[in-house]
Amino acid sequence: MKNRTLLMIPGPVEFEPTVMAAMGEPTTSHLAPAFIDAFSQALQDLHVVFDSPSGQPLVLAGSGTLAMDTAGANLVEPGDKALVVDTGYFSERFSLILERYGAQVTRVSTSPGSRPSLEQVKSALESDSFKLMTITHVDTSTAVIAEVKALAALGRQYGVLVVVDGVCSVAGEELHMDNWGVDLTLTASQKAIGVPPGLALLMIGPRAMEAFQKRSTPILNYYADWTNWLPIMQAYEERKTSYFGTPPVNLIFALNISLKQILVEGMPARVARHIAISQACKAGVQALGLSQVPLRPEYAAHTLTAPRYPIGVNGTEFLTMVLQAGVTLAGGLLPAIRNEYFRIGHMGAVTLSDVVVTLGAIESALAGCGYEFTPNAGVEAAQAIGKKST
Ligand code: PMP
Repeated sequence: MKNRTLLMIPGPVEFEPTVMAAMGEPTTSHLAPAFIDAFSQALQDLHVVFDSPSGQPLVLAGSGTLAMDTAGANLVEPGDKALVVDTGYFSERFSLILERYGAQVTRVSTSPGSRPSLEQVKSALESDSFKLMTITHVDTSTAVIAEVKALAALGRQYGVLVVVDGVCSVAGEELHMDNWGVDLTLTASQKAIGVPPGLALLMIGPRAMEAFQKRSTPILNYYADWTNWLPIMQAYEERKTSYFGTPPVNLIFALNISLKQILVEGMPARVARHIAISQACKAGVQALGLSQVPLRPEYAAHTLTAPRYPIGVNGTEFLTMVLQAGVTLAGGLLPAIRNEYFRIGHMGAVTLSDVVVTLGAIESALAGCGYEFTPNAGVEAAQAIGKKST
């Protein structure tokens, strides 16, 4: 008997059984030929997922925050100026990390659910001389998607390094790192990459690498220092052994399996699937009369949905009832509106049926909270959209 709920939070998500099977295999030596093969293959496949033939992949044991910390530690020198395009909680976290390494941070912010306009970012870039700009591709706290392509083009125009937090986007949202002029993209394993939590993944483009090599001050973080890790990644990619810190062997085997599946699906098809499932989820939520945190449809990400509670529905009660109906959802995260909304993650191995089941649980909880709506409206709207796109 399955003793679990359907996990529909914005990470960790549900994982493919073959990925989970790799986690349960006997752990090999990190110098074993099978591991070297798997790591080498995974590093090569990451170039495809990030669409960055020119980048240097880096895979570390840690969460997405370590990936952000690593970017900050290696790119920032004390006194550098950084611009943060602020779309929520995780953009703010990047500011704090950059400041920790001595950056002077300017944030371009807006109200919750909105995103800074290109004009606002442009005038900020004009106002000072920045070394780097960070963009949160999908801010998981607001479900707002940033215009990475246009922002990166602006970044290039003003000669700043463009750093993208893709924790909630890579392998789910469209991204062409080299083509769009992004200099570093980072992510974590537990979302659209489809592997249990524990891997920090980075793709370092040539300009970011050059900035790292030209540093004149020491890197103030021993574990995160790229000097230690780059030779290891290069060795594994060339199917040679090397050691700095013990790699998370089973997670990397699991990563290799998931990346293989992602490549079989193909990135364009995978992005299209995420869009179709997102549209079905959002149509279902809308049919129930719930609004969403992103203030305009074009601001809304495809990897998660952030519906607002209807008036009179208590979030804690609602989420407990959703859980009783067999689905785990996440509450709000952005402090200013935390109790006003909830979040549904739909990325990685997610299917239309998962979204339909989730909407059924949401309907059951809304009814339990005394909210009036047309029964089945959410489920039917999602199914109707789903049928159109398949
Ligand atoms: N950035 C974004 C956009 C995220 O969604 C998250 C995690 N939800 C992080 C950074 C931090 O990642 P982690 O929790 O794996 O440290």
